Amino acid sequence: MTDGLSNLSILRRNWPEYAEPLTTHVVDVAGVLIGEARPVVIAGPCAVESYEQTLSAARAVAAAGVRLLRGGAFKPRTSPYSFQGLGEEGLEILARVREETGLGIVTEVQDPRMVERVAETADMLQIGSRSMQNFPLLVEVGRAGVPVLLKRGFSATLEEWLCAAEYVAREGNLDIVLCERGIRRDCSWSHARSQFDLDVIEPLRRATPLPVVGDPSHATGEWTRVEEVSQAALEAGAHGLLIEVLAPGIERSELRCDAHQGVPEDTLQRITAFAGSREVIAAAGGSPVSAGQVR
Ligand code: PEP
Ligand code: MN
Repeated sequence: MTDGLSNLSILRRNWPEYAEPLTTHVVDVAGVLIGEARPVVIAGPCAVESYEQTLSAARAVAAAGVRLLRGGAFKPRTSPYSFQGLGEEGLEILARVREETGLGIVTEVQDPRMVERVAETADMLQIGSRSMQNFPLLVEVGRAGVPVLLKRGFSATLEEWLCAAEYVAREGNLDIVLCERGIRRDCSWSHARSQFDLDVIEPLRRATPLPVVGDPSHATGEWTRVEEVSQAALEAGAHGLLIEVLAPGIERSELRCDAHQGVPEDTLQRITAFAGSREVIAAAGGSPVSAGQVR
């Protein structure tokens, strides 16, 4: 077994620019700076399901003061029989909605062959939890020249997550935002989709100057719990939040993806007000996580 961890270029100890004082590598996404003093909220529907739904969600998002719209055109679904996203049509909808609202677009890419196409529309490319260790995808995304939102695999260790980020960084793209989206525990399913890992945020920030955001929507799987977990994520040191939103005028029962998670407009407004009223907590000093062994 070789130690592939201690020499990662994204570790604070190998990236001295952010060491003294301890600072964060700020990532600019369509003019929105992630990693600065104010937490950043990215919000939108789980999937782009129609033009009307996406525009309605985008307007709610903009009205809440959010400047980055999330929404998947390509959806990673556990069952091959579930709705897989609108694909190219979804990208065209996102481009139209950006024209109309001026919001920056955060959207997922799953297939290394599609990176160039998705990057034409995306201001930030999302790597989903299930793709965190798709190494050819990470390499392609690293070459795309677009900021990356790297979700943690739902069973990934901190070390595996950092190594995934390194695959992107070593292609020359350092504009990576890490996203904690809940991890699977033996006892998750009956009460929550997964468990938001509050305990990873501080060690992650010690380990790397890359910013980290929290996704309470996929962690809880239940919109009524998203607000409290958003607050907890910020208390734990997250630089921002990724929030799924229910488009006004759309019934949950109409949705084909993650119907229970999207927060209504008033909840989103409370979350953005809370986020806007506070500063990201300072990175902790002391030594970074120990360099464990990675396989
Ligand atoms: C999503 O953001 O809609 C998504 C599918 O998330 P994850 O990859 O974290 O499950
Ligand atoms: Mn989703």
